[in-house]
Formats: sequence, structure tokens, C-alpha cells
Amino acid sequence: MTRLEELRTNLAAVRERIAAAARAADRDPADIRLLPVTKFHPASDLDLLLELGVADVAENREQEARAKAADVPAARIHMIGQIQTKKANSVARWAASVHSVDSVRLAEALNRGIGLAIERGDRPAGILPVYLQLSADGDPSRGGVLEEDLQELVDVVEAAPHLELRGLMVVPPLGADPDPVFARARALCDGLGPGMELSAGMSADLESAVANGSNIVRVGTGVLGSRQLP
Ligand SMILES: *Cc1c(COP(=O)(O)O)cnc(C)c1O
Repeated sequence: MTRLEELRTNLAAVRERIAAAARAADRDPADIRLLPVTKFHPASDLDLLLELGVADVAENREQEARAKAADVPAARIHMIGQIQTKKANSVARWAASVHSVDSVRLAEALNRGIGLAIERGDRPAGILPVYLQLSADGDPSRGGVLEEDLQELVDVVEAAPHLELRGLMVVPPLGADPDPVFARARALCDGLGPGMELSAGMSADLESAVANGSNIVRVGTGVLGSRQLP
């Protein structure tokens, strides 16, 4: 099998899993998008995904994502990994959206970064869609905002002229039952207002995420295959 055929087969299989989970939950499959996670896989895979009609992919490391954005300008790369504040200006140049906004400092830095990027012609005018990453285990050092700090972050993003709040993102702690984590994230998401989206679910837990109201499933291994650790 060529790599193109492999990706086509994997995409079809993951889409079928999403459709089956949507049917089981009595949800409209159109309310759930698949976002392939291409981290650790070569830029050539982004080209092949484009051939298969998939322009939106996700990355979790700034340097790797920036390189792929330069190699494959037609791809729309979404940032799903932790961002150091000092990297915000760079992320602002290439990111189609950011799913991992978890602090006031980062939100403000991204807002400034988008303004700068537009001013310098590195980015067309327009807003950056953002998702706030919830801490699933109460340990913010592992990424994510604590529930008690969520509203403050929401207020900052809503006041930021270059950012647009789209919803929440969550990653359940390793080994934990994902159902209550996703259900709580969905409830908090709905509390933000109508139309807010939940970015939840990966290769191993997408059925649980769809059952609990996810709108965006971020699937790496299931679509791209296993990754070599860097
Ligand atoms: C790597 C990653 C994924 C995809 O994980 P898989 O288990 O390979 O599907 C999803 N979300 C985040 C935040 C990731 O870092």
C-alpha cells in the first residue's frame, strides 16, 4: 500500500468510527469534525492529506508546526500543544486556530501577536479562533486552566480584538475514565453561551468524546499511524 492509500484507508476508518459514535448518541454527524494530528509525521503527509481533500491538521510543537507551515502553505495548521508566551508571536503568524489557550498571559500575547502579524503582512486581516484548554486533573503545570480561573480567561479573550472565543478543549488525564471529564467540559462549554464548540477526543477515546458532545476530535495515531518519539 502506498502512503496515500494508507492515509485514505485510515481516514475512512476513523470517519466511520465517528459516524457510528454519532449514531449511537443520536447526534448529527455534521456537528463533529475530524482534525488529523500530524505531529512527528513529515510535511509530505500534509501534502497527501491535501490530495485527499483534508486541509486542516493539528500540531502540538511550535517549531515543528512553523516548519510545516512554511513547507506546505496550503495546509491550515491548528495549534493544540502548550505554548510558551515568548513563542506567541510565532504561533500568531501560522496558526489557523489555537486550542490550547490556558492563561491570561498567553491570551494577551497571542492577541498582540496577531495584531503584529497583520501589521507586518505575515497574516491576512481577521481574527484568531481560540479554544480554552481546561485542566482535567487540577494540575495547571500540565497545561490547562483551572475551572475557578476559567471566567477570568473568558473575559480577557472576549475583550481581545484579535481573538474570537470558539469553545473549550480538554485532554483527560492518562488512565482516567474520560466520560466524566468530557461531560464536565461539555457543560462548561454550554455555560459560555450558544454555539460554543468542544474540542475533545483522540484516537483512544473518541467514542466517549462524541457520546459526551464533542464537536472536534483530534486524531493522530488513528489517521497517521504510530509516531516515532522525537
Ligand atoms: C497528540 C495529540 C492528539 C492525538 O493523539 P492520538 O492519541 O495520536 O490520537 C490529540 N490532542 C492533543 C492535544 C495531542 O497532543
